[in-house]
Amino acid sequence: MQTCSKCFHISPDNELLCLQCGADLNEYSEHAITRKRLIANPRVNAIRISVGKNACPTCRLAEGVYSKETLPHLPVEGCAGPKGCECSYAPILDEIFP
Ligand SMILES: [Zn+2]
Ligand SMILES: [Zn+2]
Repeated sequence: MQTCSKCFHISPDNELLCLQCGADLNEYSEHAITRKRLIANPRVNAIRISVGKNACPTCRLAEGVYSKETLPHLPVEGCAGPKGCECSYAPILDEIFP
């Protein structure tokens, strides 16, 4: 599912715009905002996509650690989970930071 960062309405994975306020979910879903924040944070070294316990096979394939350059968008494209994609981003911090 996609949560709108503007009005917190939850829209299905296949919607491009928030069903309540019309925000572009490619840019304003909570996943999209988190993705942008992580990429902009110099302390974040890489990003892990963690999948839920009941993740579908497509999401399981997407699980793993990505560089900022290769980090895919969420929800996972082609997710077949009955409740929609439940994947999330988790930052991997630079441990050498003083
Ligand atoms: Zn909205
Ligand atoms: Zn899925």
